Amino acid sequence: MYDKSKEMFQRAQLFIPGGVNSPVRAFNSVGGTPVFFQKAKGSIMTDVDGKDYIDYIGSWGPMILGHAWEPVVKAVQAVTANSSSFGAPTEIETDIAELICDMMPAVEKVRMVNSGTEACMSAIRLARAYTKREKFIKFEGCYHGHADQFLIKAGSGAITLGVPNSPGVTEGTAKDTLLAKYNNLESVRALFETNPTEISAIIIEPVAGNMGCIPPAKGFLEGLRSLCDEFGALLIFDEVMTGFRLSSGGAHKYFNINPDLVTMGKIIGGGMPVGAFGGKREIMSMIAPEGPVYQAGTLSGNPMAMTAGLTLLKELHSNPSIFEDLEEKGAYLEKGFRQVFEKHAVPICINRVGSMISFHFTSGKMENFDDACNADADLFKQLFHEVLKRGIYFAPSAFETLFIPHTHTMAMLDQTVEAIDAGLTSMLQ
Ligand SMILES: *Cc1c(COP(=O)(O)O)cnc(C)c1O
Repeated sequence: MYDKSKEMFQRAQLFIPGGVNSPVRAFNSVGGTPVFFQKAKGSIMTDVDGKDYIDYIGSWGPMILGHAWEPVVKAVQAVTANSSSFGAPTEIETDIAELICDMMPAVEKVRMVNSGTEACMSAIRLARAYTKREKFIKFEGCYHGHADQFLIKAGSGAITLGVPNSPGVTEGTAKDTLLAKYNNLESVRALFETNPTEISAIIIEPVAGNMGCIPPAKGFLEGLRSLCDEFGALLIFDEVMTGFRLSSGGAHKYFNINPDLVTMGKIIGGGMPVGAFGGKREIMSMIAPEGPVYQAGTLSGNPMAMTAGLTLLKELHSNPSIFEDLEEKGAYLEKGFRQVFEKHAVPICINRVGSMISFHFTSGKMENFDDACNADADLFKQLFHEVLKRGIYFAPSAFETLFIPHTHTMAMLDQTVEAIDAGLTSMLQ
């Protein structure tokens, strides 16, 4: 098994740092050789050795309607024949912008970029310019891309002081990023009280998906909204993962909260590299060339990416039964997970919102990053490989959520639970 993947990984490591173009793909947190893929259709990915897997990553979100969804493939092929990029305006950019403003209640104007990272770093720049303040709050365990200002972890001493989480990030940058604890309003209030006129924004994943799936506690997001209002800061929802997934309008529509700015990515590109940020007209009008805040991109809004995104978004917009179906499948899988872990008497915390689901090996609570770090990583690692060899492709890290696409059948969900059952049997014997 995995012979060709092993060979390809050997060669890749000679020319690509770590053999991959994004770290989590390298299997570092689960060990073993990453699987190389050749093709995928619907729910099934095929590796280079010809083995099939039921996919729970969906390219980290975009494949919500399954891989190689025909309308996207066809539309991209057609538009590419007329050039993949002009570096000049096209009407399709307005088509997708108008549709996003229609779908997302908090978005009145939107700027397209090329990744979620770009979207988040631009949203912070805009929030700083709008409020004329330099600091912002992020939550431990939330991911907003790899811009310097987000690669900050909590310092060991004073809770308010962030420190660089990667070599190359300066202490000067770190001092403007304040760290709070997810689902803990007191930790946020404390930051505002020590910095009452310096905080430009709070940025948050409205459902955390980068420490496993951790939903917001009741009243948490509402509490952030009122703290922002009280202290004159902007509320930024990072919907790169939740946007167009939890509902056609993302998490802020799902929870009925009104953020000032929203960042998007993943699904919005239909599998192409796309991000976007948008929000209240008054704030977005500060972006160049309408306003003074500089933001640009040579390939931003290119016809291939816009066509892929527009085709996918149109379907999610016009077919609300997709979200009902995702909820139904999510609930079904959650039930299967609960039964199988209970059967083996393995303590587990299962979190789910719609089609985002994860399990943490712990008998404790799962409300923030500290809780996620306390779960048993070794059990995750073992189970990951047990199900992988049985043809189930979970995210190769306990700190990622699983995504259920529309194309998964009930039989596939059953097969997944059966693989866990067999995996746990062999682990625990
Ligand atoms: C994936 C992700 C990002 C980064 O997006 P990229 O396109 O990988 O740069 C930002 N925020 C969240 C919540 C994400 O899940």
